[in-house]
Amino acid sequence: SPRLLQGLRTNREELGRIKAALHRQEPVHSELLNYTKDGREYWVELDIVPVANDQGELTHWVSIERDITERKKAEEDIHRLAYFDSLTGLPNRRMLLDRLTHVLAHARRTPQVGAVLYIDLDRFKNINDTLGHHAGDLLLKGIAGRLQEALREGDTISRLSGDTFALICPMATDSRHAALVAHKLLEQLESPFVIEGLELFIAASIGITIYPQDTINPEQLLKNAEAAMFRIKEQGGSGYEYYKADINKQAAERLKLESRLRPALERDEYVLHYQPKVELAAGKLVGFEALLRWCPDGSSPVPPNQFIPILEDTGLIVSVGEWVLRAACRQNKLWQDSGLSSITMAVNLSARQFRAPGLADLVERVLKAIGLEARWLELEITESMLMDHTTETAVTLQRLSAMGVKLSIDDFGTGYSSLAYLKRLPISVLKIDRAFVKDITSDANDRAVVQAVIAMAHNLNLRVVAEGAETPEQVSFLRNQDCDEMQGFFTSRPVPAADAQPILLDGHCKKIAGIAAASAASTRP
Ligand code: C2E
Ligand code: MG
Ligand code: MG
Repeated sequence: SPRLLQGLRTNREELGRIKAALHRQEPVHSELLNYTKDGREYWVELDIVPVANDQGELTHWVSIERDITERKKAEEDIHRLAYFDSLTGLPNRRMLLDRLTHVLAHARRTPQVGAVLYIDLDRFKNINDTLGHHAGDLLLKGIAGRLQEALREGDTISRLSGDTFALICPMATDSRHAALVAHKLLEQLESPFVIEGLELFIAASIGITIYPQDTINPEQLLKNAEAAMFRIKEQGGSGYEYYKADINKQAAERLKLESRLRPALERDEYVLHYQPKVELAAGKLVGFEALLRWCPDGSSPVPPNQFIPILEDTGLIVSVGEWVLRAACRQNKLWQDSGLSSITMAVNLSARQFRAPGLADLVERVLKAIGLEARWLELEITESMLMDHTTETAVTLQRLSAMGVKLSIDDFGTGYSSLAYLKRLPISVLKIDRAFVKDITSDANDRAVVQAVIAMAHNLNLRVVAEGAETPEQVSFLRNQDCDEMQGFFTSRPVPAADAQPILLDGHCKKIAGIAAASAASTRP
């Protein structure tokens, strides 16, 4: 009797099916979990065939059994790899969609509702960039663990990709319940994670969509929840939001914008505007920053914060950035050739451009082709671009600096860099982000940050530029703190080349000189 091979996990139904076939004297094929004498599980593939004599009477059964334990294990591995995320062990996107399809098929038959929550971590990239991928991985595992703790039976949490998770939450009662779940998830993330001895805080943006009300298409549900998540991101993150049908309109707008951006370079729809940088001590003009403007044919200009992120996402920024570099250098050379005084032209680099191979070669080629000396070009990069700590980053920076190109850190204070680290790179200028400058006259904290940055930067021999100074009070404060330069609406908004030329011709900002004189007068005994 084969019964001695069977055990607790042997499939009873399958045994019944085999027995029934034998009873009908029919051949049968099966796969069964069996047990060895010492209780070890093994899988067999089993073929049982009836053997009849010449009169057609059953006399024997031939059974062939093959040990397929290895194959079963391989299948399990494949299943795990195909359906689970290897870092966190959570179900992956495919598995989530499978479950969602299943849940929705169920919801179609019975009046059950449920929610899909799309969870995207806020500023996770900063952590990855600053502390490295290992720490990032540990944090993701920790987060996966906490999210799992918040689940109820029947919920499925999955890791969709990098720092995004999704939760299917079937519930029989009330869709408002989803808000409570979102709230609970956010709460789970509130206390810090201790990773490699550091306390890390992380928040998340959650988009919620309800089925079957919003749609019963699994892919569409995820998309809706993602769209709702983006709404929270736009408002600064850390919170949740329900999907509303008009969000899709916004996504469609973005797609439309993208398709109009693709041919923009060939159609010559980009222009540069220039904003002066002025020395605070005497009001002398020292340079311009080139800022990209997109004026699509037949419609009003689109602000950079709307189209530059799309250029970055699509990779178009690499070719457009090259155009900016050429156009800005050419303009500077044109001014020099027409006898105006030489100034530095600053060009913004995006992370994509900075990481693309051959940046230093490109800059060298452009300068040579235009005939502009490297010292009249400044490249603005952001802190997060330096945080890879890779040797390529350092090599690119060293090469640019060796050519004579100036390097500055844009939007300083918004990332996580340490001044000591920056000092090891050939950076010569820090631009304090407008966010700190904005409230220096009203907010003591911002004032302290700006004072400290200026003092430390000077100790490290870096020049400091304050971004976004708009009022005489701000300028006066910056000047008194020995900030080297400023750039902001106080002196001028970014203007087209034709309007920048008179500023260059003058070479001096009278408004700054006025403030200098006033502050000299007020300190006179
Ligand atoms: P950014 O490099 O920090 O540029 C400074 C931004 O602050 C500019 O915005 C400028 O118009 C604005 N600004 C300057 N002074 C003031 C002020 O006193 N008050 C206020 N409220 N704003 C002021 P813009 O031109 O809209 O550019 C936004 C961002 O877009 C830039 O920030 C830069 O990150 C990016 N960007 C612009 N042009 C390019 C480019 O050619 N390539 C790349 N990769 N990014 C660019
Ligand atoms: Mg800039
Ligand atoms: Mg800036």
